[in-house]
Amino acid sequence: MVWMVSKGIRGIDMFYNLNIKGTKKWRKTPDKCPHCGGKHITGIEILCAYDGPLFWECDDCGERMLRFTKQTTVKHLRKTEGLFIDLEGMENICQQPPN
Ligand SMILES: [Zn+2]
Repeated sequence: MVWMVSKGIRGIDMFYNLNIKGTKKWRKTPDKCPHCGGKHITGIEILCAYDGPLFWECDDCGERMLRFTKQTTVKHLRKTEGLFIDLEGMENICQQPPN
């Protein structure tokens, strides 16, 4: 699953918005959700932040789990701070606005 950064929330705000409670990290998809025990875990990729899943989300209860340390996750999310997002066309994402 791929997420786009939203208009108002990006960078560190995005991290807080994710509301990841745990500090344990899973390098690979967790076998089951530590919160509800559900086995349907989806990797979430944030467009322009990291190429590949940046964190995991439980399809059953919505619990989110870290793939990297908080520090690393925030570092990747910070890349989205300066993005110019053209909502009209996805192909223009990641480009800087014209002067
Ligand atoms: Zn769950």
